[in-house]
Amino acid sequence: MSLESLEILKSSFGYDTFRPLQQDAISAVLAGKDTFVVMPTGGGKSICFQVPALILPNLTVVISPLISLMQDQVETLNENGIEAAFYNSTLSSDQKNKLIQQCLNGHLKLLYMAPETFLPALDSWLDDVRISLLAIDEAHCVSTWGHDFRPEYSQLGVARLALPDVPCIALTATADVVTRKDIIKQLHLQTDQLFISSFDRPNLELIVKGNIKKKEKIKQVLEFIEKQNESAGIIYCFSRKEADEWTVILNKEGYRANTYHAGLKAQDRASAQQRFIHDETQIICATIAFGMGIDKSNVRWIIHNNLPKNIESYYQEIGRAGRDGMPAQVLLYYTLKDVVMQGNFIKGSEKPIVGTKKLQRMLQFAEATSCRRKVLLNYFNENHEQDCGNCDICMHPPDFVDGTRIAQMALSGIKRTKERVATTLLIKILRGAESHDVTNRGFHHLKTHGVGAAYSEYEWQHYIAQLINLGLIEIAYDEYLSLKITNAGNKVLFGEKEINVTVPPEKALRSTRNKTKAKVEFNKEVDSTLFDVLRLKRAEIARKQGVPPYIVFNDATLTQMASSKPITLNQMADISGVGDAKLIKYGPVFLELIKDNN
Ligand code: ADP
Ligand code: ZN
Repeated sequence: MSLESLEILKSSFGYDTFRPLQQDAISAVLAGKDTFVVMPTGGGKSICFQVPALILPNLTVVISPLISLMQDQVETLNENGIEAAFYNSTLSSDQKNKLIQQCLNGHLKLLYMAPETFLPALDSWLDDVRISLLAIDEAHCVSTWGHDFRPEYSQLGVARLALPDVPCIALTATADVVTRKDIIKQLHLQTDQLFISSFDRPNLELIVKGNIKKKEKIKQVLEFIEKQNESAGIIYCFSRKEADEWTVILNKEGYRANTYHAGLKAQDRASAQQRFIHDETQIICATIAFGMGIDKSNVRWIIHNNLPKNIESYYQEIGRAGRDGMPAQVLLYYTLKDVVMQGNFIKGSEKPIVGTKKLQRMLQFAEATSCRRKVLLNYFNENHEQDCGNCDICMHPPDFVDGTRIAQMALSGIKRTKERVATTLLIKILRGAESHDVTNRGFHHLKTHGVGAAYSEYEWQHYIAQLINLGLIEIAYDEYLSLKITNAGNKVLFGEKEINVTVPPEKALRSTRNKTKAKVEFNKEVDSTLFDVLRLKRAEIARKQGVPPYIVFNDATLTQMASSKPITLNQMADISGVGDAKLIKYGPVFLELIKDNN
């Protein structure tokens, strides 16, 4: 059995080995058991039902919530020469009838449907079709606990009961244990076959930059993008206005960038998304409205312009980078202003207490002084012993110094202003500014006026953020964001406790691209000129075929071609991602290119 699935993996998908848990999940499905697969985005969930679909005798029905996701998967399968199709409202009745015929004759291996079309079909034509397997993708949509509940999904439990002899595989990337339990219940999964993989995404390089001024940030971001060698990326912004601003900045610099947010016409949004998927636009500047339903595997970088509201959102957003397993960089910018803004937002939300706790955890991640990946995975209840080697902290460990005196300056500044000033004004007082907002309240007469003149505003921002994070200071959201001293803060102020702080990092965005990666290994030098040539060819083919370039070959496959430079079709077939169908269709063209450019 396992030999057969391995053969299918190579001949149909071009991959040599299974990723962790894929093989086990496939064996469970082939043994006719209900199966539940939890893997992070990019973990390779699709293979878990696609390989069985090719081995099982009859049709596999795949339930998926979004047309764009169905389309992407069907195109990928068709490119690999696999008989797959989707059945939804975009089809004409002619097309539908043809498809129904194909299902009835057993000519189709996989049929993708939305739940709202699946249920009525079960009562009519699908009743006569022999079904081997039911795969429910994005299974968290069935749970009201999940982040993306869809009422249509809740009917799937009934559908399951109507198909008592058909095994079911449910798949999700949800990290939340309550949601997972609910999925099993809602879908009546009769199973102990749970496959939950690690949430680690070792190929994502995690970088965080705190308290950078706007002008400096723009400079850094432009440098960062310049180094990305024209590869695709997303800038996530809190507001539509900021997203618009980034697009203008990037366009002015000559980049192909588009905006995406809920303020645009549906048509413009769809076109921006389409252009991005097809590599026609390099950068999307978006609010978090962007990303659902995007399977693009060659997103190489993501920038957060602001602090996300919690770690779940952050993780989901960075998860859109590097789905092909190749190195990708994710860069987060945040300021205390973001914390305040998100805090205000959360205060007006349904669950303000939970929301605030989650925001605090997000800030802790941003302010982390030890391996960030450990902090991130800890949040998902995964404990990793070793530092990752692929985050900014691991690559540039911060220097700690005794921060007691610094803290005392800030704390006494807060005390002497009777806890009635916010961060910016406090910093002005500490640095001895004589501006109007300082003098008109007489703050220039305070003893603390000017005690902290030795530190720049940037340094003070950095220190105060840490004092908040260490729990010495609180922000009073309901009192114009004024700073308050906590009990722990008083202990430091009165010399009962000492603290350490980190020195602010240099402002320049240090390049981490050329560092040796701890986990993501390149076995050979990649010929980057050749890679670019192959990439151009890929784009040309994709345009002709009307599919996104990453569906022709993903970045991992092109990279391997550019490093191992195959000469014969046999050698080409050895490359991961080159299955039988693609070998015949594209093998010769790419071999020729490699020969010509060597
Ligand atoms: P998910 O649905 O879990 O987000 P996908 O099924 O889209 O992930 O897979 C992510 C990427 O990994 C795809 O480009 C896919 O082709 C690739 N992939 C999946 N399984 C393997 C494997 N065994 N070997 C190499 N690449 C794989
Ligand atoms: Zn690390």
